[in-house]
Amino acid sequence: MVRAACPEDTGFPESRHDRSSADVTPVFGRFFESVPFAFCILDRARHVVFINRQMAAIAGHTVEELDGACATTMFPQLGPMLERCYRFAGHGTPLPDIRIYWRSRTYLLSFSVTYDAEGLVAELLIGAMDISREARIEARLRQSRRQLLSSLRTDHLTGLLNRNGLASALSRELRCSNREETSMALLLVDVDYFKNYNDCFGHLAGDRCLVAIAREIARWGRRAGDAVGRFGGEEFVMVLPDTDAAGALRVAENCRIAVERLSMTHPESPFGRITVSIGVTVNDGRRGKPVDADHAARCLGAADRALYEAKDAGRNTMRFSHLSEDHESASPSFNP
Ligand code: GH3
Ligand code: MG
Ligand code: MG
Repeated sequence: MVRAACPEDTGFPESRHDRSSADVTPVFGRFFESVPFAFCILDRARHVVFINRQMAAIAGHTVEELDGACATTMFPQLGPMLERCYRFAGHGTPLPDIRIYWRSRTYLLSFSVTYDAEGLVAELLIGAMDISREARIEARLRQSRRQLLSSLRTDHLTGLLNRNGLASALSRELRCSNREETSMALLLVDVDYFKNYNDCFGHLAGDRCLVAIAREIARWGRRAGDAVGRFGGEEFVMVLPDTDAAGALRVAENCRIAVERLSMTHPESPFGRITVSIGVTVNDGRRGKPVDADHAARCLGAADRALYEAKDAGRNTMRFSHLSEDHESASPSFNP
């Protein structure tokens, strides 16, 4: 064949690209054609000195087309990988297997190197194994793992975070709030007279109501870092980083109005419709303040106190409670 000029030809005075598969004895040639794996041998000038049929098929050419060709010219996209192999081999560094995606299939490439009497790289042997099936299974397993991890943090009814997801979001944002000395708001949202709603319309209607409320609340917690979840039953939590008391009360009022505007009839409520009460607290971030389960519980405790005040004030409203630094006051926690 006519040899393409190889960019790496220069600098390799003893380049052996005058050799080709014809140099491989017929017995070995036949043997290499019948082995169940694909491989080729390149000389130090990146020319193919041997390639079996299996490897040529992977490359999308015939053995005759590739025999003696310059690999980096024929397959420029493989150039950087090959150069790295030669560089590693030149330093005597073992060559790791490489996974490549090639013509819609995944291959595992393995390498071995021969050296000449002066210790210079003589040949690079490349073996290729089609691992498309394994790669597909792996991708499916990775996807299942992602789904499983996400389901461990997701509330099955509303699709919001569950208690676990909220616990890690609160701990993460409290740390961030203290490190960056910013305010982080915590809102505890509770549906008013929900037991009566279930009693009137049944549990399934109650579930649909919770889903609708969740959707409204989630709309007000969409900034980066915001976390919205179902704390349990008919209670929701919002963790809002970078939010001070005024901002948190605004969000709370927006949530309250949004739920009220759903206009879901509730004959057993003095408001005649579904409403929520909201307790609000804020962590004023201070560097060095320890963030532990106790700190998270005190945040929840403060939001819970505020919620009770809102309930006492007649419901369908919100109240703010300062976060106590008193360790004794920690009561609710994320542990169900
Ligand atoms: P308040 O205004 O004081 O909050 O009164 P409430 O009736 O909402 O509060 P209470 O704690 O007495 O009742 C909560 C009700 O929430 C009881 C329970 O039947 C209902 N609930 C809890 N989890 C679910 C759920 O997953 N689906 C439905 N449909 N109802 C739930
Ligand atoms: Mg409740
Ligand atoms: Mg309630």
